[in-house]
Amino acid sequence: MISVSDAVIQNESRLSEADRQLGDGDHGIGMTRGFTEVKKQFEALDPTSVSQVFTTAGMALMSSMGGASGVVFGMLFQSGGMAIARAEGLNGESLAVFLEAGSQGVMNIGKAKPGDKTMIDALVPAAEAAKGAKDNSIQEALAAAAKGAHQGMEASKDMIAQHGRARTLGDKCLGYPDAGAVSVSVIFQAASDFVTT
Ligand code: ADP
Ligand code: MG
Repeated sequence: MISVSDAVIQNESRLSEADRQLGDGDHGIGMTRGFTEVKKQFEALDPTSVSQVFTTAGMALMSSMGGASGVVFGMLFQSGGMAIARAEGLNGESLAVFLEAGSQGVMNIGKAKPGDKTMIDALVPAAEAAKGAKDNSIQEALAAAAKGAHQGMEASKDMIAQHGRARTLGDKCLGYPDAGAVSVSVIFQAASDFVTT
């Protein structure tokens, strides 16, 4: 979680730049605030399970970020983390369950569907890719999830926003990726890099 947090923080300006095209330009600031709080809480935490790692991160994001993305990114980690309460560690199987439950949790609370140009458009392809790789090693499963998230983020360029601040822009948002989808891609690429290096 620490190296994922560092990657998000390092990408602050890229995330805000993406939000500047379609929203109010604060996405990087919010994500940095949230993942700085995650790092702070992990200094004092000696986690006993992977579920606790994710639910703690989710609560840290929700309580610190604010804005639309505080709720959706907090919910990703909270719902995903709760769904793997009995998992012994992170493997292909628990990653797939985490991503499936996490994306459901976000869709339940935010009401965005695939194709609406939100972080869901990176999250759902990541969840599907992880499901397809669930019998593989965690390295392979995370690499698949990162690839799915990246492809979803790229595909979000061709979508017209139905949620969040960009929903009033109509086809003016074509050509730009959704900022939250860029964040999802950064998160899973960092997690994948962490387990392979
Ligand atoms: P705000 O819109 O409050 O300024 P941010 O700029 O931090 O929040 O985050 C915007 C991102 O939040 C969007 O790019 C999108 O991915 C995500 N988002 C907004 N609304 C929703 C929703 N209903 N469901 C899923 N994701 C959403
Ligand atoms: Mg914003």
